[in-house]
Amino acid sequence: MSASFQVLVSRYASQLAHQQYDVIVVGGGHAGTEAAAAAARVGAETLLVSQKIQTIGALSCNPSLGGIGKGQLVKEIDALDGLCGRAGDWAGIHFSILNRRKGPAVWGPRAQLDRQYYREFIQSELLSTPRLTVLEGSVEELLVTEPKPDEPGQHRVTGIRLANGSQLVSASSVVLTTGTFLAGSLFVGQTTVPGGRVGDAPSSAGLSHTLKERLRLRMGRLRTGTPPRIVKESVDLSLAVLHPPDTNPTPFSFLNKQTRCKPEEQLPCHLTYTTPGVEKVVKESLHLNCHIHQDTKGPRYCPSIESRVLRFPGRQHQVWLEPEGLTSELLYPQGLSMTMPPEMQLSLIREIPPLQRAEIHTPGYGVQYDFVCPTQLSPALQVKSTQGLFLAGQINGTTGYEEAAAQGLWAGVNAARRALSMPPVTLSRTESYIGVLIDDLVCRGVTEPYRMFTSRAEFRTALRPDNADLRLSLKGFEEVGCVSSERYQEALRVKNSLADALAALQDLTFFSFHHVVKNDLSPGPDTVMFSISGMAVLQYNQVSYEMLASCFPEVLCPFVEFSQRLKIEAVYKPHCDLQKKEMDRIQKEESMFLPQDIDYFSLPVSLSQEVREILDRFRPSTLGAATRLQGMTPAAIVHLLKYVKQTK
Ligand code: FAD
Repeated sequence: MSASFQVLVSRYASQLAHQQYDVIVVGGGHAGTEAAAAAARVGAETLLVSQKIQTIGALSCNPSLGGIGKGQLVKEIDALDGLCGRAGDWAGIHFSILNRRKGPAVWGPRAQLDRQYYREFIQSELLSTPRLTVLEGSVEELLVTEPKPDEPGQHRVTGIRLANGSQLVSASSVVLTTGTFLAGSLFVGQTTVPGGRVGDAPSSAGLSHTLKERLRLRMGRLRTGTPPRIVKESVDLSLAVLHPPDTNPTPFSFLNKQTRCKPEEQLPCHLTYTTPGVEKVVKESLHLNCHIHQDTKGPRYCPSIESRVLRFPGRQHQVWLEPEGLTSELLYPQGLSMTMPPEMQLSLIREIPPLQRAEIHTPGYGVQYDFVCPTQLSPALQVKSTQGLFLAGQINGTTGYEEAAAQGLWAGVNAARRALSMPPVTLSRTESYIGVLIDDLVCRGVTEPYRMFTSRAEFRTALRPDNADLRLSLKGFEEVGCVSSERYQEALRVKNSLADALAALQDLTFFSFHHVVKNDLSPGPDTVMFSISGMAVLQYNQVSYEMLASCFPEVLCPFVEFSQRLKIEAVYKPHCDLQKKEMDRIQKEESMFLPQDIDYFSLPVSLSQEVREILDRFRPSTLGAATRLQGMTPAAIVHLLKYVKQTK
């Protein structure tokens, strides 16, 4: 891969073939790479512009993919033919399914990755994507037209201006995925410098100016941080608890039967804990740590060691020591994100037993950046007040590669569809975690960096990692246009085989005889017979599909490759059937569109002033979205429903 990769890189465009594209994607992070690839798959002539070619697909923080809630997103992105699942299978060096003690619906497929392999895979996929051009460059400004008199408040994006020279490139749609780079500042100790990530300049001020001053978008500021990277050979791993990977790595991608890394080649992770000395160093260095004093919100579920220690004093905190790559000489200490001065960082890590003699390769740092309040977006991730402008990833207030990639894919799809004069497509929260993510962002907004959890999905027993292909690959091909025919054919084969197998199980009848306990000599049988379907038998914990197949080989053996999926289907079927009614209700509400030009203040229905203000501010696209707005009352929804029905 590495050798051929150098050749491939030289094929990147240095001069543009066209000055006019259907879609331009700004930023080559996790959102941007998925957006560009998805737009091209849908059929749009696409340009991806990113500041540095070599950082396209870079993992800015932890080299890992998936986890609880996030693994579900990766499976769904893969089902829609996205890149990150296959990249994870190529780059993974330690695979494990998290949450195994709970049901398979909330299992979290996760892998520790080799940074370089991941980046190289993404880059070579982009290079081999038809209709996609990749350009190294920084986007200085968005080109937008002023609103027309007949469309008040509606700007339209027409392209971009590149920095260093005034090259203009036009496009029908532009997807902005600038991550932590928008007005980004980096923090270590008392030093603050402009930057989007260590070694990378922030996005140009022109871009922020367009969003804030010309488009008048509501923006906010968030922060995050990363731990120091530690020299592996300076660490005594014998003092930490060994965590081996799964013996049989499970690939993320539905197209892969195995991962690139062989089971025995995988690397272990290690677990250790903080000591009271860590808390002491944090407290002693507080006056030298300006990031911690900033009045911005950081990621609650991935906090810095400073925040953890200050919030929960006297506790031991977990620190995972994770490999950075197959041959990397560095370790990533997950849980030790910090922004104190470098010499204090060294003192802190040496308070942890396996790190007593550790050396720091690169100090930890924090980053603060602008984000756009995502309630200003439609469910297609288009800015409601600017035709053709789509936003995805950290710029929308999320944190994490998977959240960024999921939004990127969906924004890319819709940007392409708009450019090709096709109607927008949406994903409902009843059919996917991607739908949950987008719905949460556009209906509820964010007050702190948003990350995915299984608890955010009300229908998680139906939205399982194992069935993402059935939920999304068919729709992705038939309705959306972002899925290849190869993947579609495979999903169809799986769908038909599972349906046949479930029908066969339903047709099998088991009889069981139960002794009747009688306390008198009344007439009647001593035993009664119950019949039960093969499907119901499979729901018992102790029964596996293979056991049933050994009893009925002719009927069940043809489907044995799906034995795990069939077991999961059988177990969840009763619960999913119960949820069906509620899912149908939500889907019905989501098909009731609210006109975007509605004047809520003069609407002749009984709504309080507060509700009118909420509706005017968020402009929900559907009745379903309106029900999920904070501050909406059941009575207001009934009035809105009547109004929608009358105007239909
Ligand atoms: P990014 O991956 O940041 O990619 C943005 C891309 O846009 C870059 O390639 C950049 O070069 C390009 N770009 C920006 N401006 C322009 C421009 N004007 N013109 C052209 N190209 C441009 N996530 C977690 O889940 N947990 C964490 O603890 C965590 N810690 C982090 C710590 C740090 C220091 C950083 C930087 C990130 C951290 N993240 C963390 C976030 C994670 O990296 C992001 O969520 C994810 O990378 C977001 O993907 P993205 O595509 O939105 O943006």
